[in-house]
Amino acid sequence: MSGGAHSGCDQPGLMPLAQAREQLLARIGCRVQSEACPLGRAVDRVLARAVYAEVDVPPADNSAMDGYAVCLADLDPAGETALLVGQRIPAGVAPAPLVGGSAARIFTGAEIPEGADAVVMQEQVRLEGGRVYIPAGVRARQNIRPRGQDIARGSRVLDAGERLTPVALGVLASVGVAEVEVYRPLRVAILATGDELVEPGMPLAPGQIYNSNRYLIQGLLQSLGMQVVELGSVADSAEATEAALVRAAECADLILTTGGVSVGEEDHVKAAIERLGRLDLWKVNIKPGKPFAAGTVAGVPLYALPGNPGSALVTFALLALPCLLQAQGLAASAPFSLPVRAGFSRARVQSRDEYLRVDCGVDGVARPWSNQSSGMLSSVLHSNGLLRIPAGQTVEEGQALEFFPLAMLLRR
Ligand code: AMP
Ligand code: MG
Repeated sequence: MSGGAHSGCDQPGLMPLAQAREQLLARIGCRVQSEACPLGRAVDRVLARAVYAEVDVPPADNSAMDGYAVCLADLDPAGETALLVGQRIPAGVAPAPLVGGSAARIFTGAEIPEGADAVVMQEQVRLEGGRVYIPAGVRARQNIRPRGQDIARGSRVLDAGERLTPVALGVLASVGVAEVEVYRPLRVAILATGDELVEPGMPLAPGQIYNSNRYLIQGLLQSLGMQVVELGSVADSAEATEAALVRAAECADLILTTGGVSVGEEDHVKAAIERLGRLDLWKVNIKPGKPFAAGTVAGVPLYALPGNPGSALVTFALLALPCLLQAQGLAASAPFSLPVRAGFSRARVQSRDEYLRVDCGVDGVARPWSNQSSGMLSSVLHSNGLLRIPAGQTVEEGQALEFFPLAMLLRR
């Protein structure tokens, strides 16, 4: 981040993160059409139409055990009852009605025959002289999994806007659904600004650095099932920045940029948005990530992340990602967090909400990475989440603070 003498660092009056996110979410909406997709290819897609069950799951009462199906009225409540075994019912077979005064040999998952109202585990019976001896104490409906216990016919199985996880696909298969209506993948154009950027694999000349944000952002989008339109890196000039944004708006549903959004003379993104479209927001009260900007170019939403890789990741996760998910058709949800204890104390206060890269152990204690520089990305590699320290607060060791697990934050 470049910055002049009055870059506004830690200035009061910056927009709080939650307010910025709400404003952006209120504008974005779903940006993609839907298409039919066979269930076998639908993992990680987003459901575009709710699914209702056309069958009960299970479709009939069935046995939870290997054992004997009986009718309570045939049993002696005070002692053992000897019954003939009238039929054998493995799973997958349609049973005949239970003959009065008999038991049916039955296996797990097999349908309960009409007239039976309990299953006795095979371990609890005695077989002798061609009869099965049922002990006293059998309860009505014991070991019977009732029809519709899992899912009742007519009930809503999944809502539009839900991610089709492997579990969701399994549940859809259980109600016999073979095809689902899903949103097509969101097309996201990404471009990295900076005269200093070189692609990995090339030699570094003096003054140059490798373009890491490209692979960071591209990977994040790909892991969300989105389609990346890679537009390379852009020189630090007003003309090059404007030309790149125009091109991006022509070929994508949404644009992400990194760098060039601060207040230095080499930062051209904010001015380019203002000239080409509309700037909705600039600067948020968070550390790292203050220079984040958002707007539209030719009607296409654009999120401009700061160039420092640590800031790019934090603003992607907390601001751009919720909007990307909504644009992809997902139902909105606040980033998941849980309270953990601080493994450190800090007397110094910040005027911005700070998101520290921390490692939280199974003891529920978060320990910050030693160097929190926003220019560092490797620190994120060694962290499993972000710990929020609210603006103006000191930290006491053991104090409860909000922890955002990276695994939850980056994949929803
Ligand atoms: P900027 O936001 O353009 O002022 O950049 C802030 C810092 O992030 C500078 O040190 C840049 O060199 C660095 N930076 C910008 N873009 C990238 C990128 N794509 N990959 C790695 N570092 C970057
Ligand atoms: Mg730059």
